[in-house]
Amino acid sequence: MYIFRAVSDLQSFLAQQSRSIGFVPTMGALHEGHLSLIRTSLQENQCTVCSIYINPTQFNDPKDFQHYPVTLEKDIELLESAGTHILFLPSTEEIYPHGTKHLKQYAIGYLDTILEGPQRPGHFNGVCNVVHRLLDMVKPQNLYLGEKDFQQCAVIKQMVEQEHLPVQIHTCSTLRHEDGLAMSSRNARLSEEGRKIAGLIYRTLNRIRENLADQSFSTLKEVALKELRDHQFETEYLELADSSKLELISSPLPLKEMVLLIATRLEGIRLIDNLIIPPIDKR
Ligand code: AMP
Repeated sequence: MYIFRAVSDLQSFLAQQSRSIGFVPTMGALHEGHLSLIRTSLQENQCTVCSIYINPTQFNDPKDFQHYPVTLEKDIELLESAGTHILFLPSTEEIYPHGTKHLKQYAIGYLDTILEGPQRPGHFNGVCNVVHRLLDMVKPQNLYLGEKDFQQCAVIKQMVEQEHLPVQIHTCSTLRHEDGLAMSSRNARLSEEGRKIAGLIYRTLNRIRENLADQSFSTLKEVALKELRDHQFETEYLELADSSKLELISSPLPLKEMVLLIATRLEGIRLIDNLIIPPIDKR
């Protein structure tokens, strides 16, 4: 695996390649979820580039940024054993040559007004800035994103369309632990006790999915929020949306695919997850 820190080195290396490039941007602290994106890219491209960059502009909470886990040596081992071709480790000076104070403002619109948007002001604009910059640097044909960050995928798709970027986006399904907890770099910050309880998030989403054809979403949501509260979760949102435009809905749309989305805190650690709800045929 080649490791590049300077964009000029990365670009002169990539310029000599006439191969299709798949790109997996990450913030490191890699786990099997990240590696599943890498593996998909490896199958579909001749050259796979992974970046690790903890993007300061997408953290609205400075504590979250300070505590973001850094495990570079282990990440390098994992990427190498998966067969990744290139690891790109840019510096903040390379990503933001004009500093981080005056960021480009993207027209995120509606997607910034729901779910993660109001909870994390500026977050998606930071995401758009870093992804746009990385895409300009790596110039991949294919970009691999995790469905775990469902709203982020929607925001990036919109940005890619608005900016007319020549890249194909592939969303990959969420990898989970045995108890259903979505793999996340943040899980490592849970205590042993917290980690045992955290599987409740996925069970809750599943229970709503199973009962949505027969019970109202508002009743299911109320029961779910109470159970989460009883287990010390502080839930920021638990919403149902149409999966294509992310329009929030209060009851299932007939014959339309939907998605359930949740953000909840356990031991102060913010965890997000979602579950696709196939179209319900209520005849
Ligand atoms: P992050 O390092 O958290 O920014 O994540 C980098 C990429 O990995 C994003 O596209 C995430 O959506 C994706 N990802 C994170 N966790 C998972 C998971 N459990 N399964 C699949 N993809 C994931």
